Amino acid sequence: MTLKADYIGRFAPSPSGPLHFGSLVAALASYLDARSRGGQWLLRMEDLDPARESPEAADDIRATLDRFSLYWDGSVLYQSERLDAYANVLQSLRDRDLVYACDCSRTQINEIGGVYDNRCRYRSETTQPNALRVKVADEIIRFEDTIQGPQQQELLRECGDFVLLRKDGLFAYQLAVVVDDAFQNITDIVRGYDLLDSTPRQIYLQRLLGFPPPHYAHIPVAVNELGQKLSKQHFAAPINPESPGKQILAALRFLGMQPPADLGNAPPGTLLPWAIEHWDIQAVPKLANIPLEQFS
Ligand SMILES: [Zn+2]
Repeated sequence: MTLKADYIGRFAPSPSGPLHFGSLVAALASYLDARSRGGQWLLRMEDLDPARESPEAADDIRATLDRFSLYWDGSVLYQSERLDAYANVLQSLRDRDLVYACDCSRTQINEIGGVYDNRCRYRSETTQPNALRVKVADEIIRFEDTIQGPQQQELLRECGDFVLLRKDGLFAYQLAVVVDDAFQNITDIVRGYDLLDSTPRQIYLQRLLGFPPPHYAHIPVAVNELGQKLSKQHFAAPINPESPGKQILAALRFLGMQPPADLGNAPPGTLLPWAIEHWDIQAVPKLANIPLEQFS
C-alpha cells in the first residue's frame, strides 16, 4: 500500500454481527478525528475467526456505514486475505528466536492467577497442538493516550509472553492488528477503552518489528445497565438504520459534543460537517465506560 498522508486513521470492526451503538461511537470518533485533521479514514474488517464472523456481517457493516454517510477512503482491507503477511512476520520473529511453542491451557494459566509465567520458554518439548508466544522484555512500556493520559504497563509481570498464533491455528489479534496498522500506514488510532490494555503489547511488537508507533486515543465504551460492554454476546440491539440522524446525535453527545437544537432532525449529511468542524477530542469524557441509558 503506497498511501501516505500526515494523518491516516481507521475503523476496524470484527464482522461478528450488525453494528450496535458502541461500534457506531467508535466509528464516528475515529472518522471525526481523521476528517477534522484533513486525514484519511480507512475501513478494515478484522475477520480472522470464521467461526465468529461472516461475509454477510461485513457487507451489513459496510451498508450501515454508507447509510450513516460515514464514507471511508480506498478499498476495504480484509484480514482474512492477509494470512501470508502475518505468516511472514511470524516467521521473521521465529528466525530471531523470539517465539516459542506453548501448550498450556486456559485453566492452567488461570490456576497461576491469570498472568502467564512464561514457563514454556524453558521447555524443550511441547505436545501438539500448541500456541506460539512472543518473548516479552523486562521493561515498562509507556505511552501517552490522547484522551486517557499517560499509560504504562510492565509486560513481563502484568501480561507475560503473549500469543501470536493460537492453538487452533488462527493468528492472534495482537499480531494481525500491528502488521496491518503498519501496512496501512496508520498514524492515529481512535478506538474503545476495552483495547487500552492491549496497547502496550502492540507497541512492544511494533518495536520488535521496527514499525513506527501510531498515536493512540481510547474512548469510553458504551455499557448496558449491568455494566457490560455492548456486544453481540450481550445481545446489544443493532443500530436502527431507519433513523441515522438521531443515532449520530446520540453518539455525538456520548463523545462530549453538544449539537445545537436546530440539528435535532438533521440527516447525517448535515450533522457530520457540523461535527467535523466542532470536533474536540479533549471534550471526550476521560472515562472507561458510560452507561448507554444516558443517551437513549
Ligand atoms: Zn505454556
